[in-house]
Amino acid sequence: MPKFSLGATSKKELEGVHADLVKVILRAIELTCQDFSVHDGIRTLEAQKKLVAAGASKTLESRHLTGHAVDLVPVINGKLRWEWDPIYVLADAVRSAARELKIPLRWGGAWDVDFTNSTDSTEHLVATYVEACRQQGKRAFIDGPHFELPKAKYP
Ligand SMILES: [Zn+2]
Repeated sequence: MPKFSLGATSKKELEGVHADLVKVILRAIELTCQDFSVHDGIRTLEAQKKLVAAGASKTLESRHLTGHAVDLVPVINGKLRWEWDPIYVLADAVRSAARELKIPLRWGGAWDVDFTNSTDSTEHLVATYVEACRQQGKRAFIDGPHFELPKAKYP
């Protein structure tokens, strides 16, 4: 028996989100050892502008605007927790679900890798990505709760 299930708020957030991404999330909640909540599915341009202004997002062409992205946030003792340790665990469950369903995913913890087919631990993927950015003299913008369908395959 799965340990967790999506709450009403999470289900509401999934309205308008691409069916393939929804499939991955529904499977991930069955596989995960870390409970999570869907925090942001479809986002309005207005909301996205505010996030960019606050420095919480980098782009006005966010995949959230088109239903190709979601943010999954760990839930611990009934509270949302933006913390890396539980994010690593839930990201691993999302990856297992995506692999099982053969759905390509891009993860905000390591933007440049084919997340679905990656084999490193999720923690190590982030470390590698941050280090690669550092070597190029760039600050890594990492967003652990963020998962999206890649634009190349889902325009
Ligand atoms: Zn996001």
